[in-house]
Amino acid sequence: MRYLIISDIHANITALDAALASAKDKWDKAVCLGDLVGYGPDPNEVIDCIRSLGAVTIRGNHDKAVAGVENIDDFNPIARAAAMWTREQLRPENREFLHQLAQGPKTVDGFSIVHGSIYDEDQYVYAPELAVEDLKTAPTPVTFFGHTHLQGGFTLRGEDVQALRASPPPSRESLSVAVEPGTTYMLNPGSIGQPRDGNPRAGFAIADFENRTVEFWRISYDVALVQQRMTQAGLPEPLILRLSFGR
Ligand code: ZN
Repeated sequence: MRYLIISDIHANITALDAALASAKDKWDKAVCLGDLVGYGPDPNEVIDCIRSLGAVTIRGNHDKAVAGVENIDDFNPIARAAAMWTREQLRPENREFLHQLAQGPKTVDGFSIVHGSIYDEDQYVYAPELAVEDLKTAPTPVTFFGHTHLQGGFTLRGEDVQALRASPPPSRESLSVAVEPGTTYMLNPGSIGQPRDGNPRAGFAIADFENRTVEFWRISYDVALVQQRMTQAGLPEPLILRLSFGR
Protein backbone atom coordinates (compact mmCIF):
# COMPACT_ATOMS: atom_id res chain seq x y z
CA MET A 1 0.00 0.00 0.00
CA ARG A 2 1.35 3.42 -0.99
CA TYR A 3 0.07 6.54 0.75
CA LEU A 4 -0.27 10.04 -0.65
CA ILE A 5 0.42 12.43 2.27
CA ILE A 6 -0.84 15.99 1.80
CA SER A 7 -1.15 18.92 4.19
CA ASP A 8 -1.81 22.66 4.40
CA ILE A 9 -3.59 22.98 1.08
CA HIS A 10 -5.05 26.34 2.12
CA ALA A 11 -7.71 26.59 -0.56
CA ASN A 12 -5.22 26.44 -3.43
CA ILE A 13 -6.85 24.11 -5.97
CA THR A 14 -4.30 24.93 -8.70
CA ALA A 15 -1.45 23.66 -6.53
CA LEU A 16 -3.48 20.62 -5.41
CA ASP A 17 -4.39 19.70 -9.00
CA ALA A 18 -0.72 19.97 -10.04
CA ALA A 19 0.35 17.75 -7.14
CA LEU A 20 -2.33 15.16 -7.91
CA ALA A 21 -1.35 15.12 -11.59
CA SER A 22 2.28 14.39 -10.67
CA ALA A 23 1.28 11.77 -8.10
CA LYS A 24 -1.12 9.99 -10.46
CA ASP A 25 -0.85 6.18 -10.28
CA LYS A 26 1.80 6.42 -7.53
CA TRP A 27 -0.48 5.94 -4.52
CA ASP A 28 -3.33 3.77 -3.22
CA LYS A 29 -4.70 5.72 -0.26
CA ALA A 30 -4.75 9.48 0.43
CA VAL A 31 -4.15 11.06 3.84
CA CYS A 32 -4.65 14.77 4.62
CA LEU A 33 -3.14 16.42 7.71
CA GLY A 34 -5.46 19.44 7.84
CA ASP A 35 -5.73 23.09 6.86
CA LEU A 36 -7.75 22.42 3.76
CA VAL A 37 -8.87 26.05 3.72
CA GLY A 38 -7.81 29.54 4.77
CA TYR A 39 -5.62 32.02 2.81
CA GLY A 40 -6.43 30.81 -0.72
CA PRO A 41 -9.22 31.50 -3.23
CA ASP A 42 -10.79 28.04 -3.75
CA PRO A 43 -12.14 26.60 -0.48
CA ASN A 44 -15.11 24.73 -1.97
CA GLU A 45 -13.07 23.27 -4.82
CA VAL A 46 -10.41 21.97 -2.41
CA ILE A 47 -12.94 20.40 -0.03
CA ASP A 48 -14.81 18.81 -2.97
CA CYS A 49 -11.50 17.38 -4.20
CA ILE A 50 -10.47 15.97 -0.80
CA ARG A 51 -13.92 14.42 -0.38
CA SER A 52 -13.72 12.86 -3.85
CA LEU A 53 -10.32 11.34 -3.02
CA GLY A 54 -11.81 9.71 0.08
CA ALA A 55 -8.76 10.95 1.98
CA VAL A 56 -8.36 10.09 5.65
CA THR A 57 -8.44 13.66 6.99
CA ILE A 58 -7.84 15.41 10.32
CA ARG A 59 -8.55 19.04 11.07
CA GLY A 60 -6.12 21.96 11.11
CA ASN A 61 -6.40 25.24 12.98
CA HIS A 62 -7.79 27.06 9.92
CA ASP A 63 -10.43 24.37 9.42
CA LYS A 64 -11.49 24.84 13.04
CA ALA A 65 -11.62 28.62 12.75
CA VAL A 66 -13.60 28.62 9.50
CA ALA A 67 -16.05 25.97 10.76
CA GLY A 68 -16.63 27.87 14.00
CA VAL A 69 -15.17 25.05 16.13
CA GLU A 70 -12.69 27.53 17.54
CA ASN A 71 -12.72 31.26 18.12
CA ILE A 72 -11.32 33.26 15.23
CA ASP A 73 -9.98 36.01 17.52
CA ASP A 74 -6.64 34.25 18.11
CA PHE A 75 -5.74 34.71 14.45
CA ASN A 76 -3.67 37.65 13.25
CA PRO A 77 -5.72 40.25 11.27
CA ILE A 78 -4.69 38.89 7.88
CA ALA A 79 -5.50 35.26 8.68
CA ARG A 80 -8.74 36.41 10.29
CA ALA A 81 -9.79 38.37 7.18
CA ALA A 82 -9.11 35.31 5.02
CA ALA A 83 -11.05 33.06 7.43
CA MET A 84 -14.04 35.44 7.40
CA TRP A 85 -13.98 35.54 3.58
CA THR A 86 -13.77 31.73 3.48
CA ARG A 87 -16.78 31.37 5.81
CA GLU A 88 -18.88 33.42 3.41
CA GLN A 89 -17.85 31.32 0.41
CA LEU A 90 -18.39 27.84 1.82
CA ARG A 91 -21.39 25.82 0.74
CA PRO A 92 -23.25 24.52 3.82
CA GLU A 93 -22.27 20.88 3.27
CA ASN A 94 -18.59 21.86 2.99
CA ARG A 95 -18.77 23.89 6.19
CA GLU A 96 -20.33 20.81 7.83
CA PHE A 97 -17.53 18.65 6.41
CA LEU A 98 -14.95 20.90 8.08
CA HIS A 99 -16.96 20.95 11.29
CA GLN A 100 -17.02 17.16 11.62
CA LEU A 101 -13.32 16.59 10.88
CA ALA A 102 -11.53 14.50 13.50
CA GLN A 103 -8.88 15.89 15.80
CA GLY A 104 -5.42 14.32 15.51
CA PRO A 105 -3.56 12.23 16.44
CA LYS A 106 -5.01 9.43 14.41
CA THR A 107 -3.41 6.10 13.54
CA VAL A 108 -3.67 4.92 9.93
CA ASP A 109 -2.45 1.39 9.08
CA GLY A 110 0.56 1.51 11.43
CA PHE A 111 1.59 5.16 11.16
CA SER A 112 0.29 8.27 12.91
CA ILE A 113 -0.97 11.61 11.63
CA VAL A 114 -1.25 14.95 13.46
CA HIS A 115 -1.69 18.54 12.33
CA GLY A 116 0.75 20.17 14.80
CA SER A 117 2.05 17.65 17.34
CA ILE A 118 0.80 14.54 19.12
CA TYR A 119 0.07 16.47 22.31
CA ASP A 120 -1.19 19.73 20.85
CA GLU A 121 -2.79 19.90 17.44
CA ASP A 122 -1.91 23.62 17.25
CA GLN A 123 1.79 23.37 18.20
CA TYR A 124 4.45 24.31 15.63
CA VAL A 125 7.18 21.64 15.56
CA TYR A 126 9.95 23.52 13.77
CA ALA A 127 13.05 22.54 15.79
CA PRO A 128 14.49 19.27 17.14
CA GLU A 129 13.86 20.22 20.78
CA LEU A 130 10.17 20.65 19.99
CA ALA A 131 10.02 17.19 18.41
CA VAL A 132 11.67 15.26 21.27
CA GLU A 133 8.55 14.48 23.28
CA ASP A 134 6.62 13.30 20.23
CA LEU A 135 9.57 11.21 19.00
CA LYS A 136 10.08 9.51 22.37
CA THR A 137 6.43 8.65 22.97
CA ALA A 138 4.90 8.26 19.49
CA PRO A 139 2.72 5.14 19.27
CA THR A 140 4.17 4.26 15.84
CA PRO A 141 7.68 4.53 14.28
CA VAL A 142 6.49 7.15 11.77
CA THR A 143 4.30 10.19 12.46
CA PHE A 144 3.36 12.65 9.73
CA PHE A 145 2.73 16.25 10.79
CA GLY A 146 1.96 19.56 9.11
CA HIS A 147 1.22 23.10 10.33
CA THR A 148 4.75 24.55 9.89
CA HIS A 149 4.59 24.37 6.07
CA LEU A 150 8.25 23.21 6.16
CA GLN A 151 9.09 20.02 4.28
CA GLY A 152 11.32 17.54 6.14
CA GLY A 153 11.23 16.61 9.80
CA PHE A 154 13.07 14.98 12.68
CA THR A 155 14.52 11.59 13.60
CA LEU A 156 15.34 9.83 16.86
CA ARG A 157 18.01 7.10 17.08
CA GLY A 158 18.73 6.07 20.66
CA GLU A 159 18.97 9.46 22.40
CA ASP A 160 20.06 11.33 19.27
CA VAL A 161 17.50 13.74 17.75
CA GLN A 162 18.34 15.17 14.34
CA ALA A 163 16.64 17.46 11.85
CA LEU A 164 15.96 15.79 8.51
CA ARG A 165 16.26 17.99 5.44
CA ALA A 166 14.29 16.28 2.74
CA SER A 167 13.37 18.74 -0.01
CA PRO A 168 14.38 17.77 -3.54
CA PRO A 169 16.89 20.15 -5.17
CA PRO A 170 15.56 22.71 -7.71
CA SER A 171 16.51 20.48 -10.64
CA ARG A 172 14.42 17.56 -9.35
CA GLU A 173 10.82 16.90 -8.34
CA SER A 174 11.36 14.17 -5.74
CA LEU A 175 13.79 12.94 -3.12
CA SER A 176 13.58 9.50 -1.54
CA VAL A 177 14.31 8.99 2.17
CA ALA A 178 14.88 5.48 3.57
CA VAL A 179 12.81 4.52 6.63
CA GLU A 180 15.26 2.59 8.79
CA PRO A 181 14.43 0.11 11.55
CA GLY A 182 15.26 1.34 15.06
CA THR A 183 14.64 4.98 14.10
CA THR A 184 11.57 7.07 14.94
CA TYR A 185 10.42 9.69 12.45
CA MET A 186 8.37 12.89 12.55
CA LEU A 187 7.90 13.77 8.87
CA ASN A 188 6.29 16.82 7.30
CA PRO A 189 5.24 16.41 3.65
CA GLY A 190 5.41 20.19 3.17
CA SER A 191 2.53 22.48 2.24
CA ILE A 192 0.55 22.10 -0.95
CA GLY A 193 -0.87 25.59 -1.06
CA GLN A 194 1.47 27.94 0.81
CA PRO A 195 5.08 26.68 1.22
CA ARG A 196 7.22 28.68 3.64
CA ASP A 197 10.77 27.38 3.09
CA GLY A 198 11.67 29.83 0.34
CA ASN A 199 10.62 27.43 -2.41
CA PRO A 200 7.26 28.23 -4.03
CA ARG A 201 6.71 24.72 -5.43
CA ALA A 202 3.85 22.67 -3.92
CA GLY A 203 5.06 20.02 -1.45
CA PHE A 204 3.72 16.55 -0.66
CA ALA A 205 4.99 13.06 0.15
CA ILE A 206 4.39 9.49 -0.93
CA ALA A 207 5.04 6.78 1.68
CA ASP A 208 5.69 3.16 0.74
CA PHE A 209 6.38 1.20 3.93
CA GLU A 210 6.74 -2.14 2.14
CA ASN A 211 9.75 -0.65 0.34
CA ARG A 212 10.72 1.37 3.46
CA THR A 213 10.78 4.71 1.66
CA VAL A 214 9.14 8.11 1.90
CA GLU A 215 9.44 10.28 -1.21
CA PHE A 216 9.31 14.05 -0.74
CA TRP A 217 7.97 15.89 -3.78
CA ARG A 218 8.00 19.51 -5.01
CA ILE A 219 5.92 20.47 -8.04
CA SER A 220 5.66 23.78 -9.91
CA TYR A 221 2.20 25.20 -10.47
CA ASP A 222 0.72 28.37 -11.99
CA VAL A 223 1.25 30.72 -9.04
CA ALA A 224 0.21 33.81 -11.09
CA LEU A 225 -3.18 32.27 -11.85
CA VAL A 226 -3.86 31.72 -8.14
CA GLN A 227 -2.70 35.26 -7.37
CA GLN A 228 -5.15 36.64 -9.97
CA ARG A 229 -8.06 34.83 -8.35
CA MET A 230 -6.96 36.03 -4.90
CA THR A 231 -6.88 39.62 -6.17
CA GLN A 232 -10.34 39.25 -7.68
CA ALA A 233 -11.60 37.84 -4.38
CA GLY A 234 -10.16 40.79 -2.47
CA LEU A 235 -7.98 38.60 -0.23
CA PRO A 236 -5.20 40.43 1.71
CA GLU A 237 -2.21 41.42 -0.42
CA PRO A 238 0.54 39.87 1.79
CA LEU A 239 -1.11 36.46 1.27
CA ILE A 240 -1.00 37.01 -2.49
CA LEU A 241 2.63 38.15 -2.60
CA ARG A 242 4.07 35.42 -0.39
CA LEU A 243 3.11 32.67 -2.86
CA SER A 244 5.72 34.00 -5.30
CA PHE A 245 8.51 33.51 -2.79
CA GLY A 246 7.36 30.49 -0.83
CA ARG A 247 7.51 32.50 2.38
ZN1 ZN B 1 -1.41 25.71 7.57
